[in-house]
Amino acid sequence: MKRQELMVAAIENGTVIDHIPSNKLFQVVRLLHLEQLKSAVMVGYNLPSSKMGLKSIIKVNGKFFSDAELNTLSVVAPNVTLCIIKDYEVVEKKCVTLPQVITGIVKCANPKCITNNEPMATRFHVSDGEAGIIRCDYCEKEQPLENVKIV
Ligand SMILES: [Zn+2]
Repeated sequence: MKRQELMVAAIENGTVIDHIPSNKLFQVVRLLHLEQLKSAVMVGYNLPSSKMGLKSIIKVNGKFFSDAELNTLSVVAPNVTLCIIKDYEVVEKKCVTLPQVITGIVKCANPKCITNNEPMATRFHVSDGEAGIIRCDYCEKEQPLENVKIV
């Protein structure tokens, strides 16, 4: 654990998003709009993990996200771990939880759905939390979270 941590430089204050499945890294970047940040963002891609095989990690200096922002990650990477860093120390650890209503994050899998044909935000309810199934509020099409496409 310690040695892997050292593969990505430590941050003074900010947020560490760890245990990201490597194939979800770029979706996590998009969900948190990291490309719009002015602060330093360090990314470790395909790092060895005893639990996951390969994982990715993101460290965002000088940025603390709201719980709502962080919970959007649950849609693509429900098992990430979040560490809040102050003065180079972990002051808080968090997990993400899947919101009951998912607005404006995920595309509907039904090409005929109004949300795919009009400029409007998508909205889904979780229909089966354990199996990770969400249902479109507009057309009722269900889809598994593991296949979702980000808006
Ligand atoms: Zn739909």
